[in-house]
Amino acid sequence: MKFGGTSVADAERLKRAARRIVAQREAGHRVVAVLSARGKTTDDLIRLAQEVSATPDPREMDMLLSTGERISCALCAMAINDLGHKAISLTGSQAGIVTDTSHTKARILDVRADRITSALAEDQIVLVAGFQGVSTSRDVTTLGRGGSDTTAVALAAAVGADVCEIYTDVAGVFSADPRIVPDARKLPLVSFEEMLEMASSGAKVLQLRSVEYARNHGVRIHCRSSFDDGPGTLVVGEQETMEHALITAVTHSTEEARVSLLGVPDEPGAAARIFGALADANCNVDMIIQNEPLGAGRQAEVSFTVPREDLRDAQAALQPIIADLGIAAIDTEPESGKVSIVGAGMKSHPGVAAKVFATLAREGINIDMISTSPIKISCVIRNDQVPTAVRALHAAFELGAGGIEAERPIGEAAR
Ligand code: ADP
Ligand code: ASP
Ligand code: MG
Repeated sequence: MKFGGTSVADAERLKRAARRIVAQREAGHRVVAVLSARGKTTDDLIRLAQEVSATPDPREMDMLLSTGERISCALCAMAINDLGHKAISLTGSQAGIVTDTSHTKARILDVRADRITSALAEDQIVLVAGFQGVSTSRDVTTLGRGGSDTTAVALAAAVGADVCEIYTDVAGVFSADPRIVPDARKLPLVSFEEMLEMASSGAKVLQLRSVEYARNHGVRIHCRSSFDDGPGTLVVGEQETMEHALITAVTHSTEEARVSLLGVPDEPGAAARIFGALADANCNVDMIIQNEPLGAGRQAEVSFTVPREDLRDAQAALQPIIADLGIAAIDTEPESGKVSIVGAGMKSHPGVAAKVFATLAREGINIDMISTSPIKISCVIRNDQVPTAVRALHAAFELGAGGIEAERPIGEAAR
């Protein structure tokens, strides 16, 4: 069971989470619970760091950020003890979560769950601080924003859990962010394939890595509300989804930054140098566009997007390359947004992209960049136009609570 920040934000909610955990124990299950930092604690900690340093040391940043989830776990253990059950809280390191050494976005390499399994065997409820681990060089690491989801999935895999329940502040995974689209529909089932595309294009209800991990280790995710008992969304293998909607969801992100390199020499190896440097700096490059003007001069223009939080690192990584390759100029737009539509049914259905572009055009929204995968179409647009774009696309593809007729049985989309 994993509880997100809003679900443990104050004493009342924390006690409610404790009661929910105890209820599962009393129903005969053994429970490992992963907790996030309370409310906006992680944001507050980041702000504290920025108050003392413009470029906080990543190792010390992780020491700081990992404290938020420890507070939640210790408090929850106290609440559970008061309910007459035995509970023990563990840091990520104590729980055996071993990561690589990339501070602030570490990847889990191994879970040595023996301490958890022995505590379970002693009839204890185990509370694990989410979002953190210990690196192969024995430093505290954190797993990137939203990383408690990944902690939960990794522990579920390590202890062979029946299910990994992600308790959050919405009732499941919806056809769009319900905070932007009030008539968004809750999806009872979503495939790993679609959930991966949704998470990678901004549906932060599940962290991307948690979905990758669940798919690779066969973990069943049930994403549900921490405020009521209703069923949420099951993330399942492709073969388990009964029907294939043409479009499943509209996703968005308002945390993108665009970088354009102008006057890039048109020669073999230029792109390899640019993106090699970005990879070495651990920058997550998303869309890439290169255009090569015809005729004399032959200088290319290369644009790409990164998460806004990676922009500073990207600029620093590019400085030596710009000098070396003789790139004429660098232009950045730190306030970009992105809107995407995701659906396994679009694989074999022409005309979807045209409908997306026509819908955005009707709203007077200009598209900066476009990228596609077999089941996703993404457009980079101005940040402030994102909510309008999301609502327009959700309506155009009839994804709302009244739009169920847009779904088709498997196979029909191909006809
Ligand atoms: P937690 O603190 O529980 O981890 P998050 O804030 O990380 O919660 O994720 C839940 C939020 O994700 C919701 O409050 C919602 O605004 C947002 N969200 C974005 N897209 C979707 C979507 N398609 N379905 C559900 N929630 C979404
Ligand atoms: N507390 C961390 C964050 O806010 C991790 C998480 O909540 O999953 O990103
Ligand atoms: Mg989250």
